Amino acid sequence: SGNHNGYTASTGSAACRAAIAAAHSCVNRPRLLRDDVFVTVGCSEALEHCIAVLAPPGSTVLLPSPGFPLYETICRRHGVACRFYKLLPEKGWEVDLSNLKSLSDVSTAAIIINNPSNPCGAVYSKEHLRDLISVADDLKLPIVADEVYAGMTFGKPFVPLAEVAENVPVFSVGALSKRWLVPGWRLGWVCVHDANDHLRGSGVREGINSLCQISLGPSAPIQAAVPTILAIDDSNW
Ligand SMILES: *Cc1c(COP(=O)(O)O)cnc(C)c1O
Repeated sequence: SGNHNGYTASTGSAACRAAIAAAHSCVNRPRLLRDDVFVTVGCSEALEHCIAVLAPPGSTVLLPSPGFPLYETICRRHGVACRFYKLLPEKGWEVDLSNLKSLSDVSTAAIIINNPSNPCGAVYSKEHLRDLISVADDLKLPIVADEVYAGMTFGKPFVPLAEVAENVPVFSVGALSKRWLVPGWRLGWVCVHDANDHLRGSGVREGINSLCQISLGPSAPIQAAVPTILAIDDSNW
């Protein structure tokens, strides 16, 4: 059509943000709004924005081991120290919650979890996600939930972390890359779930907004395709 040759807003076009918000609103939770979504250059940039905005230089972030190596790459670039919590192979690679707790101290800025996970292929149950949230609530830490494999579980139900996060801010990151087999399209997102408004006055949303001004957002024609893509019923795959 020639309608998508210009810049969009750096945080993403209104239609793209609204479609991502609708697709990631959770049952029995407050609906995500367009402004809760930031469109990014793949899930990689979504992770980059979350770590940059939550973790100041000198702070620490808790990462899964084994886990996706990009988390450490981003932390190192921002002068953030990584502490690795154990996943338990004998329990389907669930998080070792007491180990996670023991790694947290006043320097800790956030926890990153990856579900469904790369490289382990774990799919966490609702109960395990509730336990994780309860630990984060005790520690007063936000969670970055890397859900780039959302829905790719080969039978087990996928539960988004935000569905069970009553009181803990969850930054859920995802992308078209894996689910739609188009990693080269470079389109991802951060969804900010903060039902109890803990982030108000923290500058976190404003910070993500500022970080979006660096790349000026992903390709406009791909953004224009997102509402159609997310509306496809893939339940028969
Ligand atoms: C592939 C992958 C990413 C990065 O996704 P892109 O959209 O290609 O940037 C992030 N996290 C995990 C766990 C991945 O496997």
